[in-house]
Amino acid sequence: MNGIQRKKILGVPVDLVDRSDAINYIDRLIKADTKGHYIFAINAEKVMALRQDGFLREMAQHACLLIPDGMGAVLGIRVLYGKKIKRVSGVDLMHALCKESAIKGYRIFMYGGKEDVNQEAVTRLRILYPGINIVGRCNGYIGADDIEKLVTQINETEADILFVALGSPKQERWIQKYLPRLNVKVCQGIGGTLDTITGDVRRAPLFLQHAGLEWLYRLISDPRRIRRQLVLPVFVIEVFKERLKRKAAV
Ligand code: UDP
Repeated sequence: MNGIQRKKILGVPVDLVDRSDAINYIDRLIKADTKGHYIFAINAEKVMALRQDGFLREMAQHACLLIPDGMGAVLGIRVLYGKKIKRVSGVDLMHALCKESAIKGYRIFMYGGKEDVNQEAVTRLRILYPGINIVGRCNGYIGADDIEKLVTQINETEADILFVALGSPKQERWIQKYLPRLNVKVCQGIGGTLDTITGDVRRAPLFLQHAGLEWLYRLISDPRRIRRQLVLPVFVIEVFKERLKRKAAV
């Protein structure tokens, strides 16, 4: 439909896109003036979570774009389909969209993170991408009563792109509940990205990112992630088991 190939890793869909395919597609969606599209990031942790969680599976099925966010997605596509794709991390896509905003004037609304983090991230993005069109922002800790005001505020700003930084699966639940009432054209859940922009959480050095080892850096810098990352070896084993199954079926 959109010319983008979609494949499945352990039953979970992922799109074979690089960063420029993703940007071009989002640009088309914004120009087409349709609303309610959202981008979903697929990595090994998400594949394993989706296998257990019907809600997240349903969300993935209706996403306009499923980016190969982690090395798990890249490896899964390589092992199961023999195709070499590049990782498009959610963080990189968000930065790329901010850059595009400065060029094309996309209107951005930034929701989520602690108040000081949200404010500082917006300031830094304005320095990084002069001309970026951030039309509104709100921290991610407002009470239930203020959510209604937030929905009105987002619509009043006529934002094209909404970034939701509440962490997963909270942000997906928020998107499912409120996106139908918003006029934004594209929405991206960005997890803890604002904390990386402010430096509250550091990203891995570039050489580790390029080596596909950002997950290892995150694990070492925050060992509490170990429980979340224990699924990674299971993911790799499952992918190879799936390949064996497919070979046997041929
Ligand atoms: N957060 C928020 N509101 C909440 C819970 C979390 O704004 O009620 C923010 C939190 O401040 C952090 C992000 O959501 O910036 C979660 O980051 P994490 O790295 O845990 O998310 P992940 O990328 O792993 O999904």
